[in-house]
Amino acid sequence: MAAPPIPVFFHEAQLDFKPMYEWAFGEKIVHPETTARAESILAAVDRDAAAFRRVDPKEIPLPALRAQHNYNLLTLYTTAAAKLGPKETFYPMVFPRLRDGKGDPTNLHQSGAFCFDSGTPLTHNTWEAAGWSAACAQGAAEAVGRKGVQLAYALSRPPGHHATREAFGGYCYFNNNALAARYLRRRGRVAVVDIDFHHGNGSQSLFYKSDSVLTVSVHGDPRDVFPYFAGYANETGAGKGVGFNLNIPLERGVDGQHYLRVLDDYVLPAVRHFAPDFLVIAAGFDTYTKDPVGDFTLVLDDYHPIGERFGRLGLPTVVVQEGGYYAAHLGRMATSFLHGVRDGQSARPG
Ligand SMILES: [Zn+2]
Repeated sequence: MAAPPIPVFFHEAQLDFKPMYEWAFGEKIVHPETTARAESILAAVDRDAAAFRRVDPKEIPLPALRAQHNYNLLTLYTTAAAKLGPKETFYPMVFPRLRDGKGDPTNLHQSGAFCFDSGTPLTHNTWEAAGWSAACAQGAAEAVGRKGVQLAYALSRPPGHHATREAFGGYCYFNNNALAARYLRRRGRVAVVDIDFHHGNGSQSLFYKSDSVLTVSVHGDPRDVFPYFAGYANETGAGKGVGFNLNIPLERGVDGQHYLRVLDDYVLPAVRHFAPDFLVIAAGFDTYTKDPVGDFTLVLDDYHPIGERFGRLGLPTVVVQEGGYYAAHLGRMATSFLHGVRDGQSARPG
């Protein structure tokens, strides 16, 4: 019997958010986190209607966002929605040391209290796009946790894995994959595996003291690569969370074979050892050789076997979209990865 189509959660409002530029190392560059990324994935999904089915998330999950993030962060986004015009882009200019997110969230000039980099702008519709992006993750988690769907995909854009409880940054506003993990945690143990090129510092920080959520991230070495201040191998958790955070920083130029070996030798054994009830994959595709941001050398054909490895774990799985900035091929990467997960799940003996 053919497997049912994979639900793809996406809301049209996510396309209205258009950050125009970024400040990178003092230079103004075209912002890589474009609507073309989501459009590429939607086109690939729509071309493959036997395998995928689009689903509208039902609402922005306000209670879940309030539980996960500092309330001031939500207020700041609604301030931006109220005060910025449709063509305005606002960057925090001063970044005081974070003091538990203290600052006036109704004054955009204090938004540096809630942000940790200069690449992540506020616009009038940041709130709506980020809220619906979070709703995709919440919807996918509910499909897997409550309705028994084996595999669901959140086309979350803007991405989320860098967002902490207190702060936005790294193109991320709400932590979408953490939201999915928090939902599933009420029903069992959860492993979050982050395969984006960048370390998932936000997800790590949100579960750093937890022994019920294992966080694993494979990424470019933070000595050279964003987010620089986190992602090192000696960050293993705190309190009862010690031993439940695994960082695997890798050198530049890693190819598909090397990547698969890392999964086989470190990532998958760690997940099996933890014996979770659910798997959340923070799926960034900026590991691609043509990606303008990352510097690994994976090719299109690598994403199916990577997905298959995760599918063979035989776990109910939520895949949450993170980075990936070579928009023209992003749809092919995402869909072949998802096919891989599903093929792995159905190939699994027993
Ligand atoms: Zn990334």
